[in-house]
Amino acid sequence: MDEFKILQNKLIAFRNAREWKQFHSAKNLATSVVIESAELLECFQWLRDDDINTINKIHVAEEMSDVLNYLLLLAEILDINLFESALKKIEKNGEKYPVEKSKGTSAKYNKI
Ligand SMILES: [Mg+2]
Repeated sequence: MDEFKILQNKLIAFRNAREWKQFHSAKNLATSVVIESAELLECFQWLRDDDINTINKIHVAEEMSDVLNYLLLLAEILDINLFESALKKIEKNGEKYPVEKSKGTSAKYNKI
């Protein structure tokens, strides 16, 4: 069992114990992913690059976890294996961004 599945099972048990599945439509979960992503971004709001060591890592980790947890709940509702999908996406990006063309550049794949 992949570690995502372990997390997902814990989330499902947490959700089911509270009878919250009724609120977890795909739309509501996708909305929650974006809201939690904004909360993550807020951790960095107004920081200059040289302020990066001043961030509250505990808070950042909590917001990152909120994003991941909602993604895993959304994946469960849509019957998507997020672990396998993420692995495939890395492979796909490797094809779009071959090392020999992409190394050291942030250019989009259609501009390299
Ligand atoms: Mg949050």
